[in-house]
Amino acid sequence: MNKIGVHALSWVGGWSEAEARTAIEGSARLGYDIIEIPMLDTAAIDTAMTRRLLEENGLGATVSLGLDPTNDITSPNPDIARRGEEHLKTVVTLSNEFGATHVCGVIHSAMKKYMQPATEAGIHQSADILGRVCEHAEGCGIQIGIEVVNRYETNVINTAVQGVAFCKIIGAKNVKVHLDTYHMNIEEADAGHAIQETGEDLGYFHIGESHRGYMGSGSIDFDRIFRSLARVGYDGPIVFESFSSEVVNAQLSSMLGIWRNLWSDGEDLCRHALQFTKAHLHAAQKVDGLVKRPGVGGVFSG
Ligand code: MN
Repeated sequence: MNKIGVHALSWVGGWSEAEARTAIEGSARLGYDIIEIPMLDTAAIDTAMTRRLLEENGLGATVSLGLDPTNDITSPNPDIARRGEEHLKTVVTLSNEFGATHVCGVIHSAMKKYMQPATEAGIHQSADILGRVCEHAEGCGIQIGIEVVNRYETNVINTAVQGVAFCKIIGAKNVKVHLDTYHMNIEEADAGHAIQETGEDLGYFHIGESHRGYMGSGSIDFDRIFRSLARVGYDGPIVFESFSSEVVNAQLSSMLGIWRNLWSDGEDLCRHALQFTKAHLHAAQKVDGLVKRPGVGGVFSG
């Protein structure tokens, strides 16, 4: 069974106790299984408080982040790359303190628009560092997700096929490809085919609209997305991401280019997204049974 989650930035921009309570209690009340907590600034997360609130509400957690130019593990500057490795290992350690199951996102490079392609040396350095991060995460029982994002947010991997190849270079048991419908809509020729090509290498999935607003109000073909997830037997987390200028995290919102107000009522947005996701998952799981079940007289009769 897929666990269904929601990104904390649909609720709150920071992680004070009051903000964490709003996000965790709200997600649990609506019926989500997990909350994805952004951890760009490791000093901003009180892990004991987070653990207590998660336990009180029976909610699971995952963690996501993007690196930045000061800790970019593709950087030719060894100090910057070392800072990135230390940062990722600290994120894993802290995530483990509140029982997070996954650490994912743009952890293979800075999350930014690069003005040149990635270098071979940069890609291999990133994979080597991530291999050591995976080793640390394995000791914590945490799975690492390498998010495939569009060309304006990384120069390392922009398609699912590249994500699979990159995970093979890392070569760890606990690293998987993390796909996101918003990014796939920009880069993939055929998002359904990309999911099928990723197959068992898929370990984490973000659902979000073409404009990152309300599910179903954009141009993404979610019937095809959910059918493809069902066909590959994907049973990992499915986490809803949506961003609006209504809820701002200074660092993350500017990295993501959240300049527009796409919604004001985060609770309504999240309630709708959960219903939408469950309905699509349920329908998608029926598709193959219907395709394979001919009528009594054969394929062409009633
Ligand atoms: Mn995403």
